[in-house]
Amino acid sequence: MLISIPIPDLKNPPSLKFPERCANCGKPKDETLGLSFDMGVQKKSEQVFMKISVPMCKTCADKERSIAKVTLIPFVVGGFIVGAIVFLPALLIAPEGTTPQTLNLPFVLAGCAFLIVGIIFGTIIEAIVKIFSIPVYGKLVTKRPLTIFSFFSNTDDLIGVSAKFVKDKKVVELQFENEEIAKEFKTINNL
Ligand SMILES: [Zn+2]
Repeated sequence: MLISIPIPDLKNPPSLKFPERCANCGKPKDETLGLSFDMGVQKKSEQVFMKISVPMCKTCADKERSIAKVTLIPFVVGGFIVGAIVFLPALLIAPEGTTPQTLNLPFVLAGCAFLIVGIIFGTIIEAIVKIFSIPVYGKLVTKRPLTIFSFFSNTDDLIGVSAKFVKDKKVVELQFENEEIAKEFKTINNL
């Protein structure tokens, strides 16, 4: 279920309440994890953030903390291995420089090949690993931006909760994996 939360005043984002149990599996709450969005405005010359505290049980919180296993790690390791495989052939076939300034040319070209191929294949491998991790991490895991795009992303995610800030529309969109929690959340916050 996708829930839109209007933020009429970006300088004063609403504080949201959650049911007092794990937002992913519904078990008793052990701790809270945070989602945070930069509202893109300033108040008293300080950047305004909307912070959302999400209740989690220990198991789900631990899963969230280990999410790098299916995001960052496959990207880096996969990318590095494939990049390394093309590095050596690229180094061998790259034209050699003839002047002292261009002597390093094969290394520069092979390095570029390493980076480009590494990023492309790292991203592909990460996407595949994510699909296979759905049974463990839930289907919202595929909603998370791929590592390479995460720096430009306006989303923030936790196990079972995917959130996106759309500044033009002045809304935060929350998506829950657990429909029951989503319904309760709507009721508590009068949405
Ligand atoms: Zn849980």
